[in-house]
Amino acid sequence: MNLHEYQGKELLSSFGVRIQRGIVAQNADEAVAAAKQLTEDTGTGWHVIKAQVHAGGRGKGGGVKLAKNLDQVKEIAGQIIGMDLVTPQTSAEGKRVHQVLVCEDVYYPGDSEPEEYYISVLLNRGNGRNMIMYSTEGGMDIETVAEETPHLIFTEEIDPATGILPFQARKIAFNLGLSGAAFKDMTKFVTALYTAYDKSDSSLFEINPVLKTSDDKIMAVDAKVTIDDNALFRHKDLAAYRDLREENAIEVEAGQHGLNYVDLDGNVGCMVNGAGLAMATMDLIKQAGGEPANFLDVGGTADAARVEIAFELILRDPAVKAILINIFGGIVRCDRVAQGVIDAYKNMGNINVPIIVRLQGTNADIAKELIDNSGLDVMSATEFQEAADKVQAVLA
Ligand code: GDP
Ligand code: MN
Repeated sequence: MNLHEYQGKELLSSFGVRIQRGIVAQNADEAVAAAKQLTEDTGTGWHVIKAQVHAGGRGKGGGVKLAKNLDQVKEIAGQIIGMDLVTPQTSAEGKRVHQVLVCEDVYYPGDSEPEEYYISVLLNRGNGRNMIMYSTEGGMDIETVAEETPHLIFTEEIDPATGILPFQARKIAFNLGLSGAAFKDMTKFVTALYTAYDKSDSSLFEINPVLKTSDDKIMAVDAKVTIDDNALFRHKDLAAYRDLREENAIEVEAGQHGLNYVDLDGNVGCMVNGAGLAMATMDLIKQAGGEPANFLDVGGTADAARVEIAFELILRDPAVKAILINIFGGIVRCDRVAQGVIDAYKNMGNINVPIIVRLQGTNADIAKELIDNSGLDVMSATEFQEAADKVQAVLA
């Protein structure tokens, strides 16, 4: 689960990581009130208005702007809230902005060049250890740094038994070229950062930029945080951060029905029982020259009610031009699934794309008969390949 920047910063701050302070606002008036409050709390004169969406590169898309007075705060917040923000990480339609984070300006005006670093914490799946990845080249795309100046990216692996050790924190501060008070502050920063990552069961922290202010303080200016979904049950406070507006509406609804649905770009809707069979089905569709529109695992009990919900979700995607149902009847009997498909089809009354059903396993022959005699625009198939070929034929 991804967090908004403001949520990520709250999490970091609760573990003693210094952050650029901010207050979230839902509209322009709230933004002005937030700015006034921040000036009172921090003495900041200027403010930075930051769109809160689950996508990076907001600065490039016009989602991060500096306001030099309260009129500008109001104007900029009004512009950003409600806009469809397009960044290098969103689709061409962009992401609707529902709220902004009003921040203190930490790039003190008139100061010498602020120093920006890149620090992330993530899991190295190769050896099952967390690592801290960091670079002196903060504030820009880390992908570009990796491509053009890979020697400027460092990694530090952390032993899960010990956590981050003091010498590792010092090494990081040293490699970032720091000295004096900033060096000391960086060791505190990375230690707290790693602890926050570990204790929150996160799978990614990406802080870009980490800033060194002119008075030698190290702070997180941005925060991209991903929490491991499988650990959310023991982090009720973090689970409450979930923002359904940021997620695919069909996927959210499928989840509420206990269905595993993942939206994809193709035109062949898939309804399959079992995740492995679903993957194999998608492969076969591709091999036959088609593109799956979704991954959908309806699970073990593919009864009429579930099949109907699945149909409904698949058809919500206007790109779907055919549906392939691929069910293996192991525990569930094929004839019952077939009856479920027929009932759901009749019940819905508005299915206008061809359906290819492949049922294999217990009572497959009875199931085939039911489908073939249903009088509906549903084709049956016994073999896997035959099903994929029929899908291709109807699309051609
Ligand atoms: P991203 O573009 O989505 O990664 O959003 P960031 O939070 O990283 O902000 C983008 C850029 O805005 C940063 O790289 C900074 O250069 C700039 N920025 C952020 N905070 C401040 C600030 O307090 N003052 C000024 N002048 N610029 C800021
Ligand atoms: Mn950033």
